[in-house]
Amino acid sequence: MKIVSFYSPNFNRKKRSKNLIKIIVIHYTGMQSERESMIRLSNPKFKVSSHFLINQNGKVFRLVQDNRIAWHAGKSCWERYKNLNKNSIGIELVNKGHRFGYTNYKKKQISSLIKICKSLIKKYKIKKKNVVGHSDIAPLRKIDPGEKFPWKKLADDRIGIWHHCKPNLLRKYRNIKILEKKDKIKFIKNLNKIGYCFSNKKKSFFIKIVEAFQRRYRKELINGLLDKECLIIAQNLTNKL
Ligand SMILES: [Zn+2]
Repeated sequence: MKIVSFYSPNFNRKKRSKNLIKIIVIHYTGMQSERESMIRLSNPKFKVSSHFLINQNGKVFRLVQDNRIAWHAGKSCWERYKNLNKNSIGIELVNKGHRFGYTNYKKKQISSLIKICKSLIKKYKIKKKNVVGHSDIAPLRKIDPGEKFPWKKLADDRIGIWHHCKPNLLRKYRNIKILEKKDKIKFIKNLNKIGYCFSNKKKSFFIKIVEAFQRRYRKELINGLLDKECLIIAQNLTNKL
């Protein structure tokens, strides 16, 4: 696959070893234009970057080498990893995002992403559940790549995880309140098993994690409220982990 070099100076000078790479983090650029995103991701003033950027035509740019730590994740947590820059590969998808007119991801863009992910997964032996969105690892601060991101399509290609519940059966449990505390505890346990970090016990934090979960696995209703549908999805996701 053709990858075009577009150098960004925004990475740690010290090289990292291959076995530190455990996670792929997917982002959207969230800016008005592709040009603006590229300027930002390569300007030392902004101190942000990623390893790859994929534009809407599916053209792939390489900004930072894999053996360098790029600056894309920020304060974040997944499994036992904290501040994931050092353990991850960051991939930015050009999309205006929620602030400037969020649009569907383009077919060509996703097919390039799938190709890159496949090669990274093979090269670094990345676990299926460790292909994540920025919102999964930083739910308090981030909502990218957002609910339009086709996680199911990626999972069909064995990238990232997805559930095996039937949508029309699931639908019946939407908005059905969870009354028992043990169900909430079960949900938290399942999310922990997937990789989500519950770093604090505040109610507002719980709401944000539920939102992140819904944005990825139940995009039809993102309200931060734990309901029976979410509970069933989380249980199903962890069955095979
Ligand atoms: Zn991001």
